[in-house]
Amino acid sequence: MTDQAREILAAIGQFAAQQIAPMAQHWSKGQAPEPDLFRRAAELGLFRLDVAQSAGGLGLGFAVKARACQAMAAADFGFAMSLVNTHNVAARIVASASPQVQAAFLPSLLWGEASACTALTEPGAGSDVASLQTRAVRKDGGWLLNGEKAWIVNARHAATAIVYAQTEEHGDSSGIAAFLVDLTAQGCRRHASSSDFAQASAGTGGFTLLNVHLPDDHLLLPPGTAFGAIMSEINSARAYVAAMCCGMLDAALRHVSAYGVTRQSFGKPLRAHQAWRLSVARAETALAGACALTDSAIDRIDSGQDAQLDAAFAKIAATEALGTHMPVLLHAMGAEGLRPQYPMARHLAAAQIATLVDGSTEMLLERVARLARAHTET
Ligand SMILES: Cc1cc2nc3c(=O)[nH]c(=O)nc-3n(C[C@H](O)[C@H](O)[C@H](O)COP(=O)(O)OP(=O)(O)OC[C@H]3O[C@@H](n4cnc5c(N)ncnc54)[C@H](O)[C@@H]3O)c2cc1C
Repeated sequence: MTDQAREILAAIGQFAAQQIAPMAQHWSKGQAPEPDLFRRAAELGLFRLDVAQSAGGLGLGFAVKARACQAMAAADFGFAMSLVNTHNVAARIVASASPQVQAAFLPSLLWGEASACTALTEPGAGSDVASLQTRAVRKDGGWLLNGEKAWIVNARHAATAIVYAQTEEHGDSSGIAAFLVDLTAQGCRRHASSSDFAQASAGTGGFTLLNVHLPDDHLLLPPGTAFGAIMSEINSARAYVAAMCCGMLDAALRHVSAYGVTRQSFGKPLRAHQAWRLSVARAETALAGACALTDSAIDRIDSGQDAQLDAAFAKIAATEALGTHMPVLLHAMGAEGLRPQYPMARHLAAAQIATLVDGSTEMLLERVARLARAHTET
């Protein structure tokens, strides 16, 4: 990692600890992050880390982006998800959009003036992406989109969305294409997510597209390429979600360890009780294992190697470590752990969400079952 990358990550870590963590307790009551925080995140480079320098990015690579996600999630998973989703859209625009479209949409995303989202999920299609029903048909030299998207990070405030839609028969994965949609355009109607559990700081929501007309150059990934692109990009998302889970578990362990020194029970600090410290030690062990698998997945992605299996291992291990040990760590702080100034309850909810986004645990286990011993004769 270069000195520049190290300095940027140190500044992001400070931003997370000093400016995000204290605000996060308000977001858990439904309040949205202030627009100014997105601008401050942009100044630190949080929307440009893995965007090419030729397009105004920092070109620091995937590993730095994943570490930034880890540091941000330690403070607030929802806000970290919000930032990385805008970053992902910026990178996709750079990779696939015409110079005109880039000029129109990119600067506001790179500089935190607007947010963006990637919309695959629909009320009737989640894990089974190929069954999405949003339709795109050719019209007047462009495209006409109709459909509904649900459970989309940033959809509450995003100016722009990458919308995956079907151009052929229902269920034909080769007919899926990706379009850039201006969510302020006529025919777009957004709705908030109806769950308090889904972290207001992630801006989760949905939108309906009713006869939304797009010019031809808003087709970013043509039919025949979009489904494959999702499947390869999703490995990176799995690796950074794994890194986020490691960041949250590490943050929880820091709080618990500090509390174990100061809180007295039966005449001694909590950590002097063997039964108490062994449950914390189990969480440390699970974290070390999850981090090792996550590091390996990040390294493979960063060096351009196939990471399907490694990313699946990392996300399964990290979500399970967080899901198993967050309740234990919350319990280890007694009632104090429930106070909103600690991230424990928020990270507990995040653990649940992390098992769904970018491939649920069952989808990933299927991937492991298929790839882990692919050479074994049956
Ligand atoms: C907070 C939040 C943010 C999100 N952000 C985004 C976003 O930005 N963009 C986006 O496109 N989507 C987003 N999603 C949606 C997410 O990707 C889906 O929730 C996920 O794909 C699972 O789909 P589903 O919820 O419809 O569950 P379903 O697909 O209905 O599955 C329900 C359960 O059944 C299991 N299951 C399904 N099929 C099988 C099978 N074949 N074998 C065994 N088990 C199976 C699943 O693992 C799951 O446990 C978000 C979700 C949440 C909660």
